[in-house]
Amino acid sequence: MSVSGTTKILGVIGFPVSHSLSPLMHNAAIATLGLDYTYVPLPITVADLPTAIAGLRAIQSVQGFNLTIPHKIEVIPLLDEVTAIALAVGAVNTVKRIGDRLVGTNTDVAGFLEPLKQFSEQQLDCDWTARPAIVLGSGGAARAVVAACLELGCPVIHVVGRDPKKLKKFHGTMTSQLRDYNLRVHPWTSLPHLLEVAGIIINATPIGMASDPNTPISETEMMLLPDQAIAYDLIYTPRPTKFLQMAAARGLKAIDGLEMLINQGAIALEWWLDQPVPIGIMRQALLDHL
Ligand code: NAP
Repeated sequence: MSVSGTTKILGVIGFPVSHSLSPLMHNAAIATLGLDYTYVPLPITVADLPTAIAGLRAIQSVQGFNLTIPHKIEVIPLLDEVTAIALAVGAVNTVKRIGDRLVGTNTDVAGFLEPLKQFSEQQLDCDWTARPAIVLGSGGAARAVVAACLELGCPVIHVVGRDPKKLKKFHGTMTSQLRDYNLRVHPWTSLPHLLEVAGIIINATPIGMASDPNTPISETEMMLLPDQAIAYDLIYTPRPTKFLQMAAARGLKAIDGLEMLINQGAIALEWWLDQPVPIGIMRQALLDHL
C-alpha cells in the first residue's frame, strides 16, 4: 500500500481502537480494487470526540469513517444527517462525507441479518414470525440486534440484562424509536421461562470473549431451548465460543459474529466507494488473521 498526495482517507474511531480488525479487512479490499485510499485506526477519547469530528470534517481527504465503542451514540448530534435505520437503532457506526455534509448510518443491522438471510434461504421452513427472540445484554450491539429482530418479524423480543436501570432506559429509548412493537426487558433470573419457547437466542454481551471461560447461559439452560432454535453469538474470537460449542453439542444451529463483522464492513465500504467491494477478500483477510 502506498500513500500519495492524493490518497483518500477512511478510518475507525474508537477508544481503545488498537484491537480493531477493520483496518485489516478494509485495506485488503482497497488493495484488491487498486484504489488510492487508506483505512486507519483513529484512537479518540470521549472528551475529544467533538474536536475530532470537527477536525475530520476539515480534512477534505477524509471520505468517511466507522465508529466503535464508546462513540456510536454520542456522535449523532455532531453529524449533519442521520439515516432512518440509524435513528431507529439510536446508534451510528458509519459516517460518509457527502458534499460538505457528514451523514451517519448503521450497517450493524444489515450485517447481523446477512448470515440469517442465507440460513433462511437454505431452510425454507424457517419462520421468524413463529417464535420469540431472546437478546442477552442491553448495550450498543443489542440495539442493532433488536432492530434486526424486528425486521425479521419476530413476534416478541425479550432483552435480558443485569442492571434494571439500564434495562428500563434501553426499553424507553428503543420503544420511542421503534414504536408499537413487542419489546420486553427481563432480569437474568427470568431466562429459564423465556428459553422454552425461543426461536433464536443472541449473545450481545462480551461473556465468552477471548480468554473468558464463562458462558452467558448454563448447559442446563441450553437444554431448555426448542430443537429448532438458533444460537447466535456476536463474538468472533474465539471461534467458536463455549456458548456456541454448547449449542452445537445440543444439536442447535450455531452462528458466530464473524459474518456480521465482515458484512457490516463490506456494506460501509460499498457506501463510501459507490461500487461493489470484494467481500471474499475481506473475509479471507480476517480468517488468515484469526
Ligand atoms: P456494550 O455496549 O459494552 O454492551 C455490553 C452488554 O453486555 C451490556 O448490556 C452489559 O451489561 C452486558 N454485560 C457485560 N458483561 C456482562 C456480564 N458479565 N454479565 C451480564 N451482562 C454483561 O458492548 P457492545 O458494543 O454491545 O458489544 C457486545 C458484544 O458484541 C461484544 O462482545 C462485542 O465484541 C460484540 N460485537 C460484535 C460485533 C460484530 O460485528 N460481530 C459488532 C458489535 C459488537 P451492563 O450494561 O450492565 O454493563
